[in-house]
Amino acid sequence: MTESTLAIDGGPSSKTTPFGSGERYGEPEMAELRDVFAHGSLIYWGGYKVGQFCETVKAYFHTGYCAGGSSGSAALHAAIAACEIEPGCEVVTAPITDMGSLIGILYQNLIPVFADVDPHTYNITAESIEKVLTPRTRAIVVVHLAGNPCDLKPILELARRHKLAVIEDCAQAYGALYDGKYVGTWGDIGAFSLNESKHLSCGDGGFIITDDAELYGRCHNYLDKYYDRLGRGDRLTRLAPCYRASEMQYAVAKAQFARLDELLARRRKFADLLSAGLDGIADLALPRVLPGAVSSWWFYMFRLTPGAFRGDGTEFARALNAEGIPAQAGYIRRPIYLEKLFTEKSFFPGNIWPAEVVSGQSYHYAEGLCPVAEEVLKTAVRLPVSEFFSEEDAHDLIRAVHKVAAGLRR
Ligand SMILES: *Cc1c(COP(=O)(O)O)cnc(C)c1O
Repeated sequence: MTESTLAIDGGPSSKTTPFGSGERYGEPEMAELRDVFAHGSLIYWGGYKVGQFCETVKAYFHTGYCAGGSSGSAALHAAIAACEIEPGCEVVTAPITDMGSLIGILYQNLIPVFADVDPHTYNITAESIEKVLTPRTRAIVVVHLAGNPCDLKPILELARRHKLAVIEDCAQAYGALYDGKYVGTWGDIGAFSLNESKHLSCGDGGFIITDDAELYGRCHNYLDKYYDRLGRGDRLTRLAPCYRASEMQYAVAKAQFARLDELLARRRKFADLLSAGLDGIADLALPRVLPGAVSSWWFYMFRLTPGAFRGDGTEFARALNAEGIPAQAGYIRRPIYLEKLFTEKSFFPGNIWPAEVVSGQSYHYAEGLCPVAEEVLKTAVRLPVSEFFSEEDAHDLIRAVHKVAAGLRR
């Protein structure tokens, strides 16, 4: 046994010190919470923290409007609903994403259509979207996976040509930049998540940003039973869920927002160290960020050339785990459309799918729909990124990946 013997084979592990950690929540969050209780109302209506949060967000993104809700999924649902698309029409979205991107599409009785991804950004592209457009397409929900911006200009150009709404799922992409401008401000609506796993958390929450007053008004209504809280003269004319946010959530979210820029700087520094240290390992393809784009690095995912190493991504991740690195194979286990919900179209009891009935068409979700996305998830290994990780953590991680790549190479 030598230094280079993999820990999984009984060798010494690469990471012997704990990863950097820290407090995500502290006195700033407590102070905002105390302010809520002093104010005396816990509902956003008549309260004021959700409002303050939205002012903060608008100033940060230089955007006209912001509406807060109960989750990222809620924000995305309100966004798609606000586009006023007739049931049975199609919405193009990404196969590698959280279920939250799909929930609103399905509840609005729309048909999700999946565009394939670029093999190295893992994002959908104008080219892949164009291939799946039909006369029934009405909107595109782009997902900036892991905070890596999609190539938005060609997508927006395509959308303009076909009169499609564009919603940006920015749940993982706080502060990510495309051509010097924040993602979430390019499309018609940007939607963000404040769940515990995201860059900023208030336990659960999610909000939309837009420059369109009409879309904002409808999003606001859709987040709150379609009551007319803004006095727009449009009350209970549509069916809407109750996705209200509480003052406590947004008090925490407001304090969290103040941490964003520093947190992003730390994550970017860490990811840049990884990219520099992992560059050049044969048969290991690093994630590609478009020229001029800046990722917010929710995670760091690279790919292995199939057959180059003993085992697949799972084996590689397991070997890294033994080295003391909390790596995982892929992101989601399989493209979202390969979940039973889609393959059996069991969205509703009785497997009756009203969207399909209304459209008069039959849709099939099965293996082979987005071959690149399927291949990406089979060959990908995901490394964690955290604002609390140190330079030493990055170097340990790099060393471990080099060691595992050498040890598992065929
Ligand atoms: C987290 C996430 C969502 C959903 O956000 P929730 O707050 O969990 O509802 C949607 N899309 C993507 C890409 C996400 O990562």
